[in-house]
Amino acid sequence: MSSTASGKNGTWRNWGGNVAARPAREVTPASVEELSAAVRAAAEDGLKVKAVGTGHSFTSIAATDGVLIRPRLLTGIRHIDREAGTVTVLAGTPLKRLNTALAREGLSLTNMGDIMEQTVSGATSTGTHGTGRDSASIAAQIKALELVTADGSVLTCSEKENPEIFAAARIGLGALGVVTAITFAVEPLFLLHAREEPMPLDRVLAEFDELWAENEHFEFYWFPHTGSTNTKRNNRSAGPERPVSPLKGWFEDEFLSNGVFQAANWVGRAVPAAIPSIARVSSRALSARTYTDIPYKVFTSPRRVRFVEMEYAVPRAALVDTLRELKAMVDRSPLRISFPVEVRTAPADDITLSTASGRDSAYIAVHMFRGTPYQRYFTAAERIFTAHEGRPHWGKVHTRDAEYFAGVYPRFGEFTALRDRLDPDRLFQNDYLRRVLGS
Ligand SMILES: Cc1cc2nc3c(=O)[nH]c(=O)nc-3n(C[C@H](O)[C@H](O)[C@H](O)COP(=O)(O)OP(=O)(O)OC[C@H]3O[C@@H](n4cnc5c(N)ncnc54)[C@H](O)[C@@H]3O)c2cc1C
Repeated sequence: MSSTASGKNGTWRNWGGNVAARPAREVTPASVEELSAAVRAAAEDGLKVKAVGTGHSFTSIAATDGVLIRPRLLTGIRHIDREAGTVTVLAGTPLKRLNTALAREGLSLTNMGDIMEQTVSGATSTGTHGTGRDSASIAAQIKALELVTADGSVLTCSEKENPEIFAAARIGLGALGVVTAITFAVEPLFLLHAREEPMPLDRVLAEFDELWAENEHFEFYWFPHTGSTNTKRNNRSAGPERPVSPLKGWFEDEFLSNGVFQAANWVGRAVPAAIPSIARVSSRALSARTYTDIPYKVFTSPRRVRFVEMEYAVPRAALVDTLRELKAMVDRSPLRISFPVEVRTAPADDITLSTASGRDSAYIAVHMFRGTPYQRYFTAAERIFTAHEGRPHWGKVHTRDAEYFAGVYPRFGEFTALRDRLDPDRLFQNDYLRRVLGS
């Protein structure tokens, strides 16, 4: 997957191609000192500041017409503390680089999302998550953070140091300062046994509580216009390591999941009436398989087919009803959906604006192929999600505002009060933050 945020003609674009911005200037600091100086200079020039990662958010959360801070030179591991079980990494490091460097050291994060193209700071700032019964988002694995605040000073926080900042800044939405380094909890490298298997949707929904309870990481993809899903169960294993063979991996993860899927989406975009038939074929294309490998090779896979996405977290107990309502909506509508709906879970965590803050959660993600109108589908889906007190992923399409968030996040006021303290002049403001946090 190529880098997304292209600087062509001074225009910045996100990966999904649905957000563009023209920053007044771009800086690529090579040190924390250079970054502090860039923040001070922007304030003196009356410009807003926005640090970006790799532009993998579908919302305009990373867009700015002020100073765009690029992460490219603030990368790499600063320190590994084996005794404490932590790694401190510079904020612009891509997750891919972190995962491979950790594996070489015999270490790993505990849980991760579907891809590893994002930067560590971009991924954590929006609450990027995978699926887990006991282990939560990437931000929930943070032990300490270093950030440059609006006055250019460097601040560190952890459970012990500035704990009220730590509570919020792990998922800071880019609103509290520019993160310069993150300390993550790591553990000795382990093996995961993956079991991927098609299963009827009715069975998944009837047995969802057991499937969730019996597996450390359970998720499934439901194919709209069908009653079929692909399920994935990942559990720790004593080995032996049995990776997917390179040829099989190429055929299933590249050729079928990306190449053929891309072609199927082109056909679907040109002839929407063909989508239900394509969905039936797609849902049968991937057969059952099992393999055992190190965590990042099991959790993540390449996603080359470009799409736009909305994802909401609902209380886990509301998952089955919410999904049944989503299916009923699709079945009775003229919508034609060529992308599967992804369902994952997370345990409650203690981060102020985490989508799983204080509540056991299930995530439902809806996608549309890039270039296909998505508003009708997403609007109808969002109506269902919000009726279940859903909390949208901060980096994925949604239409909610500060008033809504004050209702679904008990600690919303805590976050905005901290922002008032750390960024009274709104140096890090953009249109998105004005909408979701208020001015
Ligand atoms: C193909 C694809 C797959 C995805 N899979 C998942 C998934 O499995 N699970 C999931 O939860 N999400 C997923 N996402 C969403 C993605 O993980 C998030 O949108 C993430 O925030 C993107 O990271 P990024 O590095 O591209 O950051 P950007 O999108 O560039 O920025 C995101 C936010 O981080 C802020 N930020 C970046 N760097 C800093 C910094 N140094 N200091 C302060 N703020 C900063 C930006 O200002 C912005 O607010 C996926 C997205 C795509 C396109």
